[in-house]
Amino acid sequence: MIILLRRDTTPKFGQTAEQVAERALLSYGIAARRHVDPSTGNVALLAHGPGLPLPPGACEELRQLPGVEAVLLAPETLPLVTGAGPGVSIAGPAGEVVLGTGGPVLIAGPCAVESEDALRQIAAAVRAAAPPGRALLRGGGYKPRTSPYGFQGHGLSGLRLLRQVGDEFGLPVVSEALDEHSLMEVAETCHVVQIGTRTMSAFGLLRAAARVGLPVLLKRGFGATVEEWLHAAEHLLSNGARGVILCERGIRTFEKSTRSTLDLSGLSAARLRTRLPILVDPSHAAGTRGLVRPLALAGMAAGASGLLIECHPRPEDARSDAAQALTLEELAEVSRAAWAVAEAARVIECPHRWQSETQTQAPPLSAVTRSNGSACG
Ligand code: PEP
Ligand code: MN
Repeated sequence: MIILLRRDTTPKFGQTAEQVAERALLSYGIAARRHVDPSTGNVALLAHGPGLPLPPGACEELRQLPGVEAVLLAPETLPLVTGAGPGVSIAGPAGEVVLGTGGPVLIAGPCAVESEDALRQIAAAVRAAAPPGRALLRGGGYKPRTSPYGFQGHGLSGLRLLRQVGDEFGLPVVSEALDEHSLMEVAETCHVVQIGTRTMSAFGLLRAAARVGLPVLLKRGFGATVEEWLHAAEHLLSNGARGVILCERGIRTFEKSTRSTLDLSGLSAARLRTRLPILVDPSHAAGTRGLVRPLALAGMAAGASGLLIECHPRPEDARSDAAQALTLEELAEVSRAAWAVAEAARVIECPHRWQSETQTQAPPLSAVTRSNGSACG
């Protein structure tokens, strides 16, 4: 069980909200471990002990305490994923960018960093395609290629160029770490570390990525269940990651007409389990340019926190993933449409139900209402 505390509560009778909640838990024989969300600074009390599960009514009593934002019944193996967020903060060159709150974000760029000239054209287009403070530049220095003979990326010089151009255009930069060696270089140069689909469950790499002090963008493994994906995020958070951004990029199915099948069911299922931001990557799911737009819009309609899109000034010349790269004009158009869909989805959205697995399995303890009126149980 997790008690989420509001940050804005002033102490009453010399006791902070945290102390009041801890005492209340202790009266039920429950000890609590304090966890501070490294991205938002929000405090959560992770409860454990023989007093669990609580007697009927106790959950509601805890919820009524001053400063308690929500009481969640988290699966024992996913306490941090259940309690994290909302919002992952990135310290970029032009100020803070927050993913997961305050509207969608666009993370876009070439599959691999190529020439400086192309990257500058791309950065200008990415910045123009999203409202101020809602865009990040992404490009690979180290590329996970199916063939060892394909372009593997420019390595550290590509990462340095990415950072230089990102700084010039005021955009935070994101790149993939393939292994512990490239992780160190990504950590030195970038604002966000990406873990790709092929290494989602490389737990040694996850542990190392968690410790570099940057938010981690965690792509879903193409053969991973939602459960496995969320547990990979738990590995990151439990090892101290400064926030996790999930990214649905398609899973492998029997369908051959797309590179992967964008799993919007999985995205929606994950949204019930966590407030961590979840992006959609229509580019790697589609594999072809013409499918990127419909998948991007569907992702936004399903409640994604933003998009990860590949683009190139001359897609036919791209050294990797040429078939799926949008032109810079297409990027602008798809982003405009995506923002309109996100706005429409926000207007018509039912209160977001955010619940834990335990709650769906055991409804009696679960009727806990969040302060914004939506139910979390
Ligand atoms: C990428 O984002 O460039 C990439 C290789 O994606 P994925 O890990 O989803 O295949
Ligand atoms: Mn790519």
